[in-house]
Amino acid sequence: MKRHEGEEPLAWKGDPVDTREISVRCCIAGGGPAGMMLALLLARAGIAVLVLEKHADFLRDFRGDTIHPSTLEIMHELGILEEFLRRPHQEVGTLGAQIGDVFLELADFAHLPTHCRFIALMPQWDFLNFIAEQARRYPGFRLEMEAEATDLFEEGGRVTGVRAELVVGADGRHSVVRAKAGLEIVDLGAPMDVLWLRLSRRPTDPGQTLGRVDARRILVMLNRQDYWQCAFVIPKGGFDRIRQEGRRPSAGRSPVSSLTSVIASANSATGPTSSY
Ligand SMILES: Cc1cc2nc3c(=O)[nH]c(=O)nc-3n(C[C@H](O)[C@H](O)[C@H](O)COP(=O)(O)OP(=O)(O)OC[C@H]3O[C@@H](n4cnc5c(N)ncnc54)[C@H](O)[C@@H]3O)c2cc1C
Repeated sequence: MKRHEGEEPLAWKGDPVDTREISVRCCIAGGGPAGMMLALLLARAGIAVLVLEKHADFLRDFRGDTIHPSTLEIMHELGILEEFLRRPHQEVGTLGAQIGDVFLELADFAHLPTHCRFIALMPQWDFLNFIAEQARRYPGFRLEMEAEATDLFEEGGRVTGVRAELVVGADGRHSVVRAKAGLEIVDLGAPMDVLWLRLSRRPTDPGQTLGRVDARRILVMLNRQDYWQCAFVIPKGGFDRIRQEGRRPSAGRSPVSSLTSVIASANSATGPTSSY
C-alpha cells in the first residue's frame, strides 16, 4: 500500500523513549501471515524490509491453524517445505462431513498435483515463528516486536519512527494503516461468525477431524491429538445473544444446547471418520 506520494514516515509506538529513525526500503505494519510471508519474500529478493508487530510474540490461540496444500506448495517452491514439515503438525488427507445421518466425503487431497496432498494443522504461532526464522537468514530482514504502527503522517516537524519508500498495511482486520490512508473497506457480507472452543479428547473418540451439519447447526471438530479444536457456526453478531441465553435456565432450545447435542452426537459417531 503506497500512500499518495513521496516517502512518508510511519509513526511507531514501541519503546516510548525510543526515538531512532530507521530508513528502510519497505516497512510492513503487522506480523501476521500476510506481513511475515511478504517480508520473507522481499528479504529473499534482496529488499530491505522491516516488520512492525505490536505484540511481544505471535501467541494467538486458534488462529489460522490449517495450512493448506497451496501454501505448502509455495513453501516447497521456496525450498523450506522439508524443514517446515519437521515441525510438530498433524496431516488431514480428506475432508468430509456428516449431514444429518448421512456421511459425505467432500474432498480427497490424494488427487492434488502438489507435493503435499494434505492440510497441515499447526498453531499459527509456530508457523509465524518458522517464517521469522527463515526470513532472518537474509540480511535485509528485520522484525521489531512490540512496535505498533499508530499513524501515517506527512513530512514536517520532528520524525519519530520509520521512513520507508513503501509502507504495507498488513495489520489485520482493524488495520490502522488502512484507516489512516483513507482506504475503503469492501464488505463482502460474511453472514456468520464462528465460536471457537476447546474440548478434551478421549482416547476412544473418533480418530479424525469431524464436520457435523444439521438443521441450522454446523460444528467442525479438528483433531489436535489431546483436544478437539471446535468451530461452531453462529449468526453474524450473535455471540452476545448466545452468551445471554446460555446463562438462562430456560435455554433448552438455544444455540448452546444445539451445540451440546451436536457434540454429543459427534462423540458417539460410528460412521467414517473424516475431516470438515
Ligand atoms: C479464530 C480464527 C481461526 C482461524 N482459523 C483459520 C484456519 O484454520 N486456517 C486459515 O487458513 N485461516 C484461519 N483463520 C484466518 C486467518 O487467521 C487469517 O486469515 C489470517 O490470520 C490473516 O492474516 P493477516 O496477516 O492478514 O492478519 P492477522 O493475522 O490479523 O495479522 C495482523 C498482525 O498485525 C498486528 N497488528 C495489528 N495492528 C497493528 C499495528 N497498528 N501495528 C503493528 N502491528 C499490528 C497484529 O498483532 C497481528 O499480528 C482464522 C481466523 C480466526 C480469527
